[in-house]
Amino acid sequence: MIVSKFGGSSVADDNQIRKVKAILESDERRRIAVVSAPGKRNKEDQKITDLLYKCNSMVQKGQTCRPVFNEISKRFVQIAQKLHIDDVKISEKLDDIRCMIDAGRGADYAASRGEYLSALIISEFLGWEFLDAQDVIVINQDSTVNEATYKKLAEKLDPEKNYVIPGFYGETEQGVLKTFTRGGSDITGSIVARAVNAELYENWTDVSGIYRADPRIVENAEVIPELSYKEVRELSDVGATVFHEEAIAPIYGIGIPIVVKNTNKPEDPGTKIIDADDVKGPCGVSARGGLSRIRLRKLMLFKKYGMRHALLTMLHIFGIRPCYSLFGIDSIVWFFDSKMANDSVCQAMCERLTKEFGLDSITVDHGHAILGIAGGEMDSSDVYLDAAMTLRENGIDTTFVNYGSSDASVLIGIKEEQAAEAVKAVYNKLF
Ligand code: ASP
Repeated sequence: MIVSKFGGSSVADDNQIRKVKAILESDERRRIAVVSAPGKRNKEDQKITDLLYKCNSMVQKGQTCRPVFNEISKRFVQIAQKLHIDDVKISEKLDDIRCMIDAGRGADYAASRGEYLSALIISEFLGWEFLDAQDVIVINQDSTVNEATYKKLAEKLDPEKNYVIPGFYGETEQGVLKTFTRGGSDITGSIVARAVNAELYENWTDVSGIYRADPRIVENAEVIPELSYKEVRELSDVGATVFHEEAIAPIYGIGIPIVVKNTNKPEDPGTKIIDADDVKGPCGVSARGGLSRIRLRKLMLFKKYGMRHALLTMLHIFGIRPCYSLFGIDSIVWFFDSKMANDSVCQAMCERLTKEFGLDSITVDHGHAILGIAGGEMDSSDVYLDAAMTLRENGIDTTFVNYGSSDASVLIGIKEEQAAEAVKAVYNKLF
């Protein structure tokens, strides 16, 4: 059996949903579809999920979400009408949902309704069973998958039937609706693939696979034909967004192959992701921006046991979870996602750390990026030297280098404003 997940652009309107139907019906091994909420139909358009989050923020501010919700309703009703399915039923559901959002059911409930309605419409259009993710996907507080999920899926899925399942959400053990992080329908697809021990997990999107570099930056960038689970995680960690970095976890060690394919060009081979040894040599380059940097210093900082842990705990109290760390004899540098803390939170954190740990200095600055080169069995020092020379020749400053912490990546700190230029230069050198 094949599990096929369709992303937001693949279900953005009736035309796209017709393509989904043609794809599903062209191979009878495709028996389960996991779907996202309708995404953008063009560059200026809005994703349904973004609109739903907006509705929830309006309610939080004491306003009604009605004006924004009307846009959502219009889109779903239009899709239903164009697919000739029961739009009255969809309108009723939309009314109920708006009332719930206005009543303050919260962000996760609001955001999940995009996938819910999308799956309802698509299941009716295909004549397949609708299986609500809330009844089968159990999500732990830390957003990992609870093992009870697999038992529930095994109980609910009838091998004789075909299903459409909404992605992105489930329920906690306590029965509270919860979403994964953004782009989380990839995780749902992976969970379902594991539950049915699928021969293949297809991930349908609007590009023909995972590129060696973002094609918006590098024109004519090549699609990677095949890469390992490990390499895809390394690449997504540094900003390649085609496949959610947490979606490998449910099938890790089970060996279900994944293929990333293009709904608009189903004949293209796409990228295969396999649970095997890494593909030799560098496979892609990407940059992740939007990072801030904390630099702190104190003489004999590490003389006391447990300092790193104590300092990190303080960062966590201020909502900051660093993604990259560097340690010197008397200093620490941490990089974190700038969205985690605004300037006043950063200032309060610096004051508290200085006071409690008697720091000699601490600064926070913004506008950083990490350039990552992923690949297996690479001679990291050669790759690093090539990349560093190229960056230098192109006038791009580097802030740190890390190779050796993983055997499948080389990471280089750069300024965010030079990230695109850096990706282009390194791509041209390495590929
Ligand atoms: N609709 C959700 C999002 O936009 C989840 C997904 O598409 O995977 O993040």
